Amino acid sequence: MIPKTLNDREPVPNLTDIEAMRATFSWDAARAECAGLPDGGLNIAFEAVDRWVAAGCGEAVALRWLGKNGERRDFSYAELARLSNRFANALQRLGIQPGDRVCILAGRIPELYITALGTLKAGAVFCPLFSAFGPEPVRVRLVKSRARVLITTTLLHQRKVREQRSELPHLEQVLLTDGNGDEPGTRSFHTLLEAETDHRPPPRTQPEDWALLHFTSGTTGTPKGAIHVHEAVVAHGLTGRWVLDLRPGDIYWCTADPGWVTGVSYGIIAPLVNGATLVVDEAEFDARRWYAILDRERVNVWYTAPTAVRMLMKMGAEALCGHDLSALRFMASVGEPLNPEAVHWSMAALGRPFHDTWWQTETGAIMIANYRAAPVQPGSMGQPLPGIEAAIVQRRPDGGVDRLPPGVEGELALRAGWPSMFRGYLEDEERYRQCFADGWYLSGDLATCDADGYFRFVGRNDDVIKTSGHLVGPFEVENVLMEHPAVAEAGMIGKPDEFAGQIVKVFVALKAGYEPSDALRKELLGFARTHLGPAVAPRELEFAADLPKTRSGKIMRRLLRARELGLPLGDMSTLEGGRSQNSGV
Ligand code: ATP
Ligand code: MG
Repeated sequence: MIPKTLNDREPVPNLTDIEAMRATFSWDAARAECAGLPDGGLNIAFEAVDRWVAAGCGEAVALRWLGKNGERRDFSYAELARLSNRFANALQRLGIQPGDRVCILAGRIPELYITALGTLKAGAVFCPLFSAFGPEPVRVRLVKSRARVLITTTLLHQRKVREQRSELPHLEQVLLTDGNGDEPGTRSFHTLLEAETDHRPPPRTQPEDWALLHFTSGTTGTPKGAIHVHEAVVAHGLTGRWVLDLRPGDIYWCTADPGWVTGVSYGIIAPLVNGATLVVDEAEFDARRWYAILDRERVNVWYTAPTAVRMLMKMGAEALCGHDLSALRFMASVGEPLNPEAVHWSMAALGRPFHDTWWQTETGAIMIANYRAAPVQPGSMGQPLPGIEAAIVQRRPDGGVDRLPPGVEGELALRAGWPSMFRGYLEDEERYRQCFADGWYLSGDLATCDADGYFRFVGRNDDVIKTSGHLVGPFEVENVLMEHPAVAEAGMIGKPDEFAGQIVKVFVALKAGYEPSDALRKELLGFARTHLGPAVAPRELEFAADLPKTRSGKIMRRLLRARELGLPLGDMSTLEGGRSQNSGV
């Protein structure tokens, strides 16, 4: 446990007494924190931007965009409000109706943020597509979402959309952020905006109207399209305040790409709802660049992914190179288990711990977290947010669930009904129904909960294996291996075995400066056996240059397993091609 001694130069955490807050919390009180629309409705973009303009804070910087070639552009809240009004007006002129889907396929460019906010203001549904997807995943998502409008760049259109237009009957408009309308079948995004005015009546959306469509990361299979409504903003705002400790004027950086849910919930909505300045870096991961941004921009709050933290660890202390990170007040991660070594490393190298947070595309917002005011337990995801009831349950054959006592491994479940809970999987009602039992949402993740209410991640349902009668989760095995100085990353699978049912096999990527060898294999197996005991320790270890990951940065154990066993590889649409450290969730 890492106790906190809060620096008295720093502000008191927004959430100080978690237990007391849990006892008195009500979602109605949280709803009342929203400004709401003049006619009584609710709209995410209005909460994020226009409300600040109405309160006289329009000149504050909402978005600080750092281009990959060194450009730097600030957008005030008032400017974002005007530009998103223009885009909403343009959508209306194009005949887009409330509920219609608007997709964007672009990198982290300013137009993406204008599109997101304008789409929400128009009452349409914002659906981001990760820009590194190939043509087929793009096509599948455009078909499935029935997008009527796509915003993209000339290059991405040429490479990933143009050839397939005939297979996209719903797609009426393609707006190019850098086009002048010359490309057949497209229009210029900016020309459209220029033709509109800055003004627009307030949105007319209601809390239960669809707002966001996010496809999941596809770690366990075919990605699912999770639908979120405008009421999700209640949870975005609250978790931004309580978990990320955001307050007006903060400089905040979320490294996740808006192609994934984290990059929208926490890369756009939560920081703006809390009046922060959002730093957006267009470039891909680069340790030196990242440290320079944290230093130069005086970032106060930083939200990133364990994969990125491990990359920073791999680069060593010299990448830090004298940078001053003293403005940082809070650091958190999401998307994958945060191994204890990463927490200890951050204490030593950066002077503060990373705080693990857990949530999913389906939950829409952070559900379990290590808070700024509470001690960090390395290796634990933390405690549920006030207002969230989390439990460890076991499914019964009759379709119900039983709660399990502290310390016992089972499925992580959340009492259904929080505002950012997904309202469906697109075109898959049956699958949505199967996620619920006895009033609980079943996450598909296995975990334990201790007597103090701290949750620990064990693995995904599909990744946990049984060896000689023992259930073994990947997290505990991989964690131990990552404690060894030679190991950068580890991925565990179960391999069928005549006697044990399955044996534990691990794939290991080494840190720079280490070479695979028989001696190192033996050493690592011995190391794991000492720490895990013979029942759980891996029997086989294979070196890999890199582990297969989703484009959102998660290890795809199903692919390791399929390759090992010669099985069909399944849905590969989200398999990473290059290096990506962006978190899906
Ligand atoms: P799919 O559902 O398509 O297989 P996915 O589950 O990876 O993809 P996301 O919604 O992006 O898609 O990821 C949520 C999952 O990420 C969680 O269910 C969990 O398995 C993992 N995860 C998120 N945060 C954490 C965390 N702090 N510790 C461990 N695992 C985490
Ligand atoms: Mg999932």
